[in-house]
Amino acid sequence: MTPETMMYIDPHIHMTSRTTDDYARMRDAGIVAIIEPSFWLGQPRTQVGSFKDYFSSLLGWERFRASQFGIKHYCTIGLNSKEANNEALAEQVMELLPLFVLKEGVVGVGEIGYDDQTAAEDKYYRLQLDLAKEVSLPVQIHTPHRDKKAGTIKSIEVALEHGLQPHMVIVDHNNEETVKDTLDGGFWAAFTIYPNSKMGNERMVEIVKQYGTERIIVNSSADWGVSDPLSVPKTALLMLERGISKEDVRLVCYQNALDAFGQSGQMKESDWLKQVTIDQRDKFSDNSILRGGQAPVVGEIVSTNLLEDNIVQ
Ligand SMILES: [Zn+2]
Repeated sequence: MTPETMMYIDPHIHMTSRTTDDYARMRDAGIVAIIEPSFWLGQPRTQVGSFKDYFSSLLGWERFRASQFGIKHYCTIGLNSKEANNEALAEQVMELLPLFVLKEGVVGVGEIGYDDQTAAEDKYYRLQLDLAKEVSLPVQIHTPHRDKKAGTIKSIEVALEHGLQPHMVIVDHNNEETVKDTLDGGFWAAFTIYPNSKMGNERMVEIVKQYGTERIIVNSSADWGVSDPLSVPKTALLMLERGISKEDVRLVCYQNALDAFGQSGQMKESDWLKQVTIDQRDKFSDNSILRGGQAPVVGEIVSTNLLEDNIVQ
């Protein structure tokens, strides 16, 4: 067992809300690629221009910021369930989506689905399923945190009703109550590891022991709330400690995410295996990540991975 050689993908993390310290720690822990789903920002947006700039920043500035720490950044584009409830605005966002979903580095339509399971959420979820099908992109489904089991089953049923192939659908935020339905349907089952609550990494170890590794994916969903951008490498180390094989850990913390989102044709391993150097002298629209007097890091990235005593349970 040599954790030093492990590479990880976090296929659900909102880096817009995180700092450069997080990027540095993530790369050091072995995270080589991430996917940032479009989401709600905490405060509701009031204008379509805010969505346009947000989508553009995921494709531009945030991708650049990640590159400065040697991490490949991809995103999924979509209208989140919460803001689907502002129908006047949602209509305008729907017009915007076709302009963004086919851009380079967009690996899916997401995160979409249900929050309170309202009629408006249902309407825009269905419209975006049709969009994903039309452009042959995977779908990243946010399942509701309240009434989770019914909401997950409904998400799956509606996806099938709209003709989505299960292998093109990543169902996120699963737990012990939903995993069987998700896997039995042939869908990808993603799990978010929340610190101190809901799905903890101890529970994730038990799920992998019970259900195996096929179509199971681990992510952090770290955002502007209490969350941990190192959830994936920490869970991986705990799995190794608890006797899960290195190959099984590689599947649920790396390969399965690549296989699922790689179906977009926009994400492949050579993207990060080839690019092993960074140059923090680079700029994006004249902006650098550095502040006065800081020495840029230039050269090869070497990750040390996490030390065992960094594991937080
Ligand atoms: Zn999210």
